[in-house]
Amino acid sequence: MKAIKVKRLYNGKARSFQDNCAVIIDGEKIKDILTYNELDEYLTYNKISVLDYSNYYMMPGLIDCHVHLMIPGNNTLGEYIANEWSDGEINILAYRNAMDSMQYGVTSMRDCGSINYAAINVRKAINNQNIVGPDIISCGAPLTCTGGHCYYMGGEADGPWEIRKKIRQQQKAGADFVKVMGTYGGTIGITKTLTFSDEELMAAIEEAHLRGLKVAVHSCTYEMTEKLSKTGVDTIEHAVMCPPDCSKNILDEKTAERMASKEIFVSYTICCVKGEIERLKNLIDTQKATDSDRQAYESNLNYDRLINESFKFQMERNVPYVIGTDAGWRASGFKSSYYDNLCVMQKNGAKSIDLIHASTLRGAKALGIDNKTGSIEADKQADLLLLKKDPAVNIAEAVKKPDIVIKKGVFVADNTVNSIINT
Ligand SMILES: [Zn+2]
Repeated sequence: MKAIKVKRLYNGKARSFQDNCAVIIDGEKIKDILTYNELDEYLTYNKISVLDYSNYYMMPGLIDCHVHLMIPGNNTLGEYIANEWSDGEINILAYRNAMDSMQYGVTSMRDCGSINYAAINVRKAINNQNIVGPDIISCGAPLTCTGGHCYYMGGEADGPWEIRKKIRQQQKAGADFVKVMGTYGGTIGITKTLTFSDEELMAAIEEAHLRGLKVAVHSCTYEMTEKLSKTGVDTIEHAVMCPPDCSKNILDEKTAERMASKEIFVSYTICCVKGEIERLKNLIDTQKATDSDRQAYESNLNYDRLINESFKFQMERNVPYVIGTDAGWRASGFKSSYYDNLCVMQKNGAKSIDLIHASTLRGAKALGIDNKTGSIEADKQADLLLLKKDPAVNIAEAVKKPDIVIKKGVFVADNTVNSIINT
């Protein structure tokens, strides 16, 4: 057992904090939260070590609601990995990505699509071999139609019964939730349409819920986002509100109101084209861009504007947003994406104190893991960050490279060493 003394503790609940307190950790779990005076009393009866971080802020570990562990996030296409890499290589990459992410403060993550059960394999390895790693929630492969978005991950199914069977097969293989590709997306060469008929979509949602699985649906159009606001879906990914021609958003009040009142969580993956924009701009600046690169640059800039606008509109109408980075996809790196997402959300008006909640307990609720993590409370896992900077002042800067990351009571990253040596 140990006690960690901190200056201020943000427990993960909305706008909730406590000053001058100590967290008692017993093995993997939080046992209690005490004031300094209560700790002094506690120490007279209990011999435990006290770690003095009384100059630090504490908050729960970060939760990333949307990653793709099978892709490196360095502009390599998922299509390329699926065609050229062996399963062994992909599993090792997925493990490395998960660990990199944890070093940067993400103690739980949801994989929204990987090939050949790579994310499930990593989760099993971490759990079965007692490796200290992040908690991983995985869908296996996302459900998509033949030739639909991310078809190469292995989730193709057509018609209600093929869809139901795919869900049953993936649950048997260890999937924790169902991901449905509701619309087209960034897969090369696919048509810009909805993926499934209403009958197919509803079969997927019904089958998942019948089996106790949550459903996340990818939506890059207004038509799908509006449709999902009326159904019993658990999370919407991206939740863009434009037509397929990406001309302009249809900022519909009723859709946002329904999403807020039904508490449909949204992970916007608000930076998913940021790296692609930078790459194409670099080609243009160095005179290496082709006409199609220039076109792609303009359409990515436009998409970036639309997704930012959708986020701001929905956030201002109290849609419960969470943080989903799309790490792995295109140039979304596992070490940098969380910071990038927080920065952009702040630019759009999200307050740091709200982002603390969105990054932790609200994310845990969206994923259905709030019974074990997401807040600093007795009996929950000791998934914690110790920070020199106050996350309520500027969360992005505070967690850019967290000073200390604790996963299930174990110190898994300590970036304070340099400063200790220098003083
Ligand atoms: Zn994604």
